[in-house]
Amino acid sequence: MKPAVFTPQEPIERWVARVVRDDIRRLQPYSVAESSGMIKLDAMENPHELPPALRAQLGEIASAAPLNRYPDPAAVALKAALRAYMQVPDAMEIVLGNGSDEIIQLLALGCARPGGTMLGVEPSFSMYPLIARVCGLQFVGVPLCADFSLDADAMVAAIERHRPALVFLAYPNNPTGNLFDAAAIEHIVRAAPGLVVIDEAYHPFAQVSFMARLQEFPNLVLMRTLSKLGLAGLRLGMLIANPAWTVQFDKLRLPYNVNVLSQAVATRVLQSAHVLAAQAAAIRAERSRLAARLQGMAGVQVYPSQANFLLLRVAAAAATYDSLKASGILVRNLAGGHPALADCLRVTVGTTAENDAFLASLAASLRLSSHA
Ligand SMILES: *Cc1c(COP(=O)(O)O)cnc(C)c1O
Repeated sequence: MKPAVFTPQEPIERWVARVVRDDIRRLQPYSVAESSGMIKLDAMENPHELPPALRAQLGEIASAAPLNRYPDPAAVALKAALRAYMQVPDAMEIVLGNGSDEIIQLLALGCARPGGTMLGVEPSFSMYPLIARVCGLQFVGVPLCADFSLDADAMVAAIERHRPALVFLAYPNNPTGNLFDAAAIEHIVRAAPGLVVIDEAYHPFAQVSFMARLQEFPNLVLMRTLSKLGLAGLRLGMLIANPAWTVQFDKLRLPYNVNVLSQAVATRVLQSAHVLAAQAAAIRAERSRLAARLQGMAGVQVYPSQANFLLLRVAAAAATYDSLKASGILVRNLAGGHPALADCLRVTVGTTAENDAFLASLAASLRLSSHA
């Protein structure tokens, strides 16, 4: 007998259009630049490797891990290690995410009532508006001042107007690198009718936190991640909040979202937290050196940063980006995004050698363009 051949009634594109949400089909996919063989200064990764002895131990841990079993859904050992490492107040609880991107998604999903709003600042982390819209929230972005500081009055006015379910503030902010004024944040927390999420992804490089102040405000919650600290590949982010909040968002978390290997490896690395602390200190020192060298370059404006990257303004960002790329150095071109970032590049602080290579290529590129 001939096998039945399925003959579609319509082209597959029409099916997709009929079935998949219009807003999802219109969405631009999150794009990551191809980087193989390049000096990678585009994604705020820690450029340092773990010491060989620790890596060998992680190999043993990975080989002994029960890969045939589901991970501990409560991640008891990892949470205990994180609690100690981050000095989480006893009264607060932790929700683990597959990266803090997933935490943003849990928060948005849990708060997305019809017609609801997420509020943030502009420019800031691109995942906030992206996730808001996918979850059915309107996103309102309040412009920062010209020096990238918080416009507290405009924030409070927007909060009163939109009554947002969620307010997201990155502390320090990405891609501007600065820390917002803590008193201005406090003002916003008091004015907000919903949750205020302080995203402390860059805490290892800023070393200031709202962690100890969580108990002061019922509507304040924190996000942290191990990504920028040196474990981006493990995908581990967290929400730290009053249990009254975490019990709700934990219901939205898929039960096994943090895998066996990530749990076991992160728990072991946190026992050697001094290694990560030393790497973060080296990155902070390189940040100062890189910023000083850039300040001395004609045609480059460098903004103050408390993160592991620097925001630069040059005469022609696209040409500079291309020229860096041609010499094997990948940074992030922010031009073409928010108008406040016209001709801006974002460069992650790398190793001393990587930063020197970047400085040399940037100088060569600027010399070329000034002779053009
Ligand atoms: C990089 C970054 C994150 C994402 O962290 P993951 O834990 O890797 O998902 C979150 N917030 C801000 C502001 C970031 O820059």
